[in-house]
Amino acid sequence: MSDIGWVPKNMMILKMTPGEYAEIAKHLVQADSDEERAAFLFARQIDNQTLQVDRVRVPDRSAYEGASWEYLELRDGLLGELIREAHILGTALVEAHSHPFDGSEATQFSAIDIDGLEETAPHVVWRLPGRPFAAFVFGRKRFDSLYWNSRSSAPNGVVQIQIGSELLAPTGLSLGHAKGTHGSI
Ligand SMILES: [Zn+2]
Repeated sequence: MSDIGWVPKNMMILKMTPGEYAEIAKHLVQADSDEERAAFLFARQIDNQTLQVDRVRVPDRSAYEGASWEYLELRDGLLGELIREAHILGTALVEAHSHPFDGSEATQFSAIDIDGLEETAPHVVWRLPGRPFAAFVFGRKRFDSLYWNSRSSAPNGVVQIQIGSELLAPTGLSLGHAKGTHGSI
């Protein structure tokens, strides 16, 4: 176990380059569109609390032809392919999607997003043992995030983004909701 000291136990850091961040942001939140979009990141584990983006995969919209952008439909058939790719690369899988209609400071996952993630995350952790699964939702101003590192549906914490020396904090609003869902179990 490494001890980073200043990173709280329930927080991970995802490091990426300015170029990677720009690519993701430009794809997910487009100035002239309110359509939700998704991106997937393959990230190497630096230590227990730090991931480093290895490559960014921005899916072609045609890959989802006929699919709605709601969480569960988006995953249909695609998840297995992404897990296989992460397995071959030896990386963790990170998914990101956008709420371009959200211009608030209170960006968070929808109830549908959380239901989908609570089902998906334990599966991904099981298929990619020893690696966390992280998810991000980006609004126009802020983002929120969750990560799982066990095969429980309840997330373990949130993920900050580090770009060079700049640290971007999630709103953290979804964690309470997600945990609340399973608080009595
Ligand atoms: Zn969503």
